[in-house]
Amino acid sequence: MPDHNKIPKEIERLSREIEEHNYRYYVLSQPTVSDKEYDDLLRRLLRLEEQHPQLRLLTSPSQRVGVKVPEAAPTVTHRVKMLSLDNAYSFEEVKEWDKRVKKGVEGEKVEYVVELKIDGVSAALTYEDGRFVLGATRGDGAVGEDVTHNLRTIRSIPLRLKASPGLPVPRRFDVRGEIYMGRADFETLNQSRKQQGEELFANARNATSGSVKLLDSRITAERKLKCFVHSYGVVQGGKAVATQWEFLQNAKTYGLCINPASRRCASLDAVLDYCQEYQQKRDTVPYEIDGVVIKINSLQQQRRLGTTLKSPRWAIAYKFPAQQATTTVRAINVQVGRTGVLTPVAELDPVPCAGVTISHATLHNFDEIKRLGIKARDRVLIERAGDVIPKVVKVVESAGGRSVPFRVPQSCPECGGEIKKVKAEDVAYRCINPLCPKQLERGLVHFASRTAMDIEGLGEVVVRQLIDKKLVKDFADIYSLKKDDLLTLELFKDKKAENLLAAIQKSRKKPLSRFLFALGIDNIGEKAAWLFAQHYPNLDRLTTAKEEDLVNIHEIGGVMAGSVADFFKMPSTKKLLAKFRKAGVWPREPLREVRSDKLSGKKFVFTGELAGLSRNEAQEKVKRLGADVSSSVSKRTDFVVVGEDPGSKYDEAVKLGVKVLNQKEFEEMIHES
Ligand code: NAD
Repeated sequence: MPDHNKIPKEIERLSREIEEHNYRYYVLSQPTVSDKEYDDLLRRLLRLEEQHPQLRLLTSPSQRVGVKVPEAAPTVTHRVKMLSLDNAYSFEEVKEWDKRVKKGVEGEKVEYVVELKIDGVSAALTYEDGRFVLGATRGDGAVGEDVTHNLRTIRSIPLRLKASPGLPVPRRFDVRGEIYMGRADFETLNQSRKQQGEELFANARNATSGSVKLLDSRITAERKLKCFVHSYGVVQGGKAVATQWEFLQNAKTYGLCINPASRRCASLDAVLDYCQEYQQKRDTVPYEIDGVVIKINSLQQQRRLGTTLKSPRWAIAYKFPAQQATTTVRAINVQVGRTGVLTPVAELDPVPCAGVTISHATLHNFDEIKRLGIKARDRVLIERAGDVIPKVVKVVESAGGRSVPFRVPQSCPECGGEIKKVKAEDVAYRCINPLCPKQLERGLVHFASRTAMDIEGLGEVVVRQLIDKKLVKDFADIYSLKKDDLLTLELFKDKKAENLLAAIQKSRKKPLSRFLFALGIDNIGEKAAWLFAQHYPNLDRLTTAKEEDLVNIHEIGGVMAGSVADFFKMPSTKKLLAKFRKAGVWPREPLREVRSDKLSGKKFVFTGELAGLSRNEAQEKVKRLGADVSSSVSKRTDFVVVGEDPGSKYDEAVKLGVKVLNQKEFEEMIHES
């Protein structure tokens, strides 16, 4: 028998907890849980209330929008309530909403407008006779805070609407929109707060919310806020509109800023395609979006569908998977990288975030630990955007006395060797023991990786054993490994040993550019290694080149030139290279084949998989013809080569009007050149 006493208690508990989060989020702009966790709590409450409607509290947060504006603040009563939106977390839920809509309009045909869901702060703007007279926050939907003085500082909010022939300005025009901060402006703001030692904002929404409510509008003005208008309240006078789309177009003509990505869709399939498209493109949009708002276009149909206490029935927000989550720090570990740099990493209670389970987040360096004030057992907010390594945004609940502060190690946690900042201005500490086994392990894994010497079968597990068994003491040693050596490794039988030896053998022929990249010289990535090798195709010449000559190479800066020159001057490098030479590994860069006039200097970007041709092979082909390869699309890109399952680079190319080539066209172009 279920314990019926438990349910009212649970409803009460959830309601209180949600109210507390609402206060921290809407009033303080300092949430302590991620939106996903908040949404989960709310959904739990909604489910219980649905199952036991008689237990729903009159004050339930499920029945209200936002929170009451604090008493001290100047308030504004909205003439038409400012509602929230219902959320859909899957396409299934969008389809269910669509069924309800179609039932509501008795099977009439519906058209939709899809708009990006801007992750900002909602605001109401009132224009009288075309003049901006009042700006307010949403508050609890009925009463908001008067923030006119601050909204006046936002350039994309016109102080006067534009009248045009056939479109007179309404006598009263209440529009609703989203105030937001672009990603770049948010980063700049946080950077400067960091420099001033001020607390950082966890995301652009919190920064926006804090900025809108500031007492000093001079500071708001510096915050570079923007506004997209997406809805309306009271409209008196002016030209009547029949659809949401028409409203948006008119708003634009009046000089208000509307989001350019909005689209009209004739079918639910087109709506879902849009959601899919922007879910993928999310990180390329220059401001934060957390979903897509789907609205019924016809205002007449909207009226028939009506609203609930909290949200309109004619709209729904499809929410993208969350990119932030909160979890607990199990420990702070220090990793030693291939160049000896010590990187602290937070080991976390595994938590789902942005479609994957996260159990580690980088803490970058020891200064960052100090800045975050993070220690084991703290609850933290983490973030994972795109393919970027997850990071800790902030501590949301300190473990206090239950844990001890992190102590910077005095020596290398792997080999016990000395650690120090190589240059006084460095933030990173390094283990300076050239024989540190962890550095060798990471370095060798990099040496053998696909984009370096491409030695299949020489991964982390094998490398670790080779080092533990003292079969390898530096990179060059792998070229003197024997089959018998390999047979001593775990799970190695004849075939596996022979394959690995063959892969090592094959790597001897890799071009100098790959070898240079594989050596793991500080600051030298794939592209820089390639540039050095083009100018010094002979390793002997490169090792003796002077820094002032290296810096003359186009696109090579002083830091890279200095790194290469310093590297070849080190006695340990000289010793290592002597071993490579003795082992017969002395790569050269094959000269570019014919420099094709057609392709010389052109910029290529690749996206998706090409049949029978690896990305590296394709890139090398174009480089040999004198063209360049880049990882992102810009206006200066000449060609985007698109394979199977292309990523957002394809959309970017279409948007920027860059020439797109399919595999066949690409191969023909290479052939002709
Ligand atoms: P919401 O932000 O999820 O959606 C409604 C709002 O979307 C509207 O009020 C409007 O301002 C905005 N919006 C953006 N683009 C729009 C467009 N094109 N058309 C129409 N509206 C658009 O809902 P909410 O009620 O503002 O906030 C609830 C959400 O806030 C929760 O789902 C949760 O994610 C978050 N929240 C988090 C915490 C926390 O502690 N982390 C606390 C409270 C709320």
